[in-house]
Amino acid sequence: MSLYLKYRPQRISDLDLDSVREVLDKMVEGGKIPQALLLAGPRGTGKTSAARILAKVVNCEENSRKVKEPCNKCDQCVSITNGSNIDVIEIDAASHRGIDDVRALIESVKLAPARARNKVYIIDEAHMLTLEASNALLKTLEEPPPSTYFILATTEPEKLIPTIRSRATIVSFKKASKREIVLSLQKKAKAEGKKIDRKILELIALRSDGSFRDAVKILEEIINESVELSLEKVTEYLDKSVFFDESLLIKKLVERDSSFVLDSIKKLSESGMSAETLVDKLLLFVRDEILTLAGLKAGKSDFDRETLLALAEDLLDVKRGLRDISGFEFLPLEIFVIRYCEKGSSNGGNNHVREKVEVKGDDSNQEETADSAPLRNGESLIGSANLSNEVWKNILSRVGSVDISVEALLRAAKPLRLDSGLLELGVYYSFHKGKLEEIKHRQLLEKVCSDVFGHNVKVICSLIKPPETKRNVCDVILEEKQGDDIIEVAKKIFES
Ligand SMILES: [Zn+2]
Repeated sequence: MSLYLKYRPQRISDLDLDSVREVLDKMVEGGKIPQALLLAGPRGTGKTSAARILAKVVNCEENSRKVKEPCNKCDQCVSITNGSNIDVIEIDAASHRGIDDVRALIESVKLAPARARNKVYIIDEAHMLTLEASNALLKTLEEPPPSTYFILATTEPEKLIPTIRSRATIVSFKKASKREIVLSLQKKAKAEGKKIDRKILELIALRSDGSFRDAVKILEEIINESVELSLEKVTEYLDKSVFFDESLLIKKLVERDSSFVLDSIKKLSESGMSAETLVDKLLLFVRDEILTLAGLKAGKSDFDRETLLALAEDLLDVKRGLRDISGFEFLPLEIFVIRYCEKGSSNGGNNHVREKVEVKGDDSNQEETADSAPLRNGESLIGSANLSNEVWKNILSRVGSVDISVEALLRAAKPLRLDSGLLELGVYYSFHKGKLEEIKHRQLLEKVCSDVFGHNVKVICSLIKPPETKRNVCDVILEEKQGDDIIEVAKKIFES
């Protein structure tokens, strides 16, 4: 038997949704259970369990006058639990949705209960009833015979005819909160003699989209598959089972469909996938495609070489940007998607042709694509007289020895200008900029810079476009042969 069925709530106090427990408690305590109830809410939140518990409450033999909770021991309770009570009738409207089904039901309503005090009709997926069937049922709901209860359950209350909705007392089921799911899982794990860290239960809660049923299923899988009960192993296990189509995501990205890609990222993040895993999966896919194009892997690729190389480089940048940004792990990826998609739409929708730039110097009559142009973005100070690469490295290492996270932030920035005691840093992401501008961080940086330069230095940050793409490997090698130390420096700064 599945854990979900094994530990199905049998009393109102077992119900996992706080709000539903409170509503039913009040209903039962006041002794006034409406004869027509509509339990409405998402799947896996306990509607059927609640319906059966109510059927027991109105039929439990333990205390026929005032039962607050079913005893779960008497014949009535036991037979309802195991589904053999002839006066508690469960109908699945998904498969019995027609007028004839409802007519048969109405006929049986006229008969008095056989053994129980009350007859209870539980109609699951009630929104599936045809219009004709719904109208036929409505008449009975309006004037239910004594000793008869109707409990309708639905995941889509808006599809019910309004007259049924207005006739029934609605109990709203909501998606379960993280806390509610964790509590529910704790009970089950304990009953199974498993000690599971709260962090792991929270992870499961994240992956189950507010459904107790899905959460218990995941718990059961982890137990059955003997997954090692560490956060790392469970995350790894769950990541494997998240369905996600890298190929489609990359295709949409190349098509500059930012809303699709951002929406997918949101869904994946909500399903609990980490930003790092997502970026890794995308990188693996892009790498495979590159190898395919290079003839090193079988198959054929739907993408062109330049697009893939540029994507790989950008995604590697995103991956580097993931360090030390706890709480905002998806932001670098999201920023990249938006920028990438904007870039594409500004050049007439042609994804693969990048803007042409003129390369100054000896070859000024030659045009190159932006991909191979040296440092388009970077009138970087590095390499120039007043702030050499060595100095910048010195600053990074001094900052890093005090606060490694500030050093990491600086690696996603570059010095633009050092002028009369004012150092201007170009920062790629506004989140990083905000971090660097925090008083504590800025003071550290200013102190280090002042020490290094031997005079007071103030630091200001400006937002600049992140480096678009770096040259592909061949270009870098070529340029290095030409002794272009700016490329070398940029490589060190951005790739270290
Ligand atoms: Zn009982």
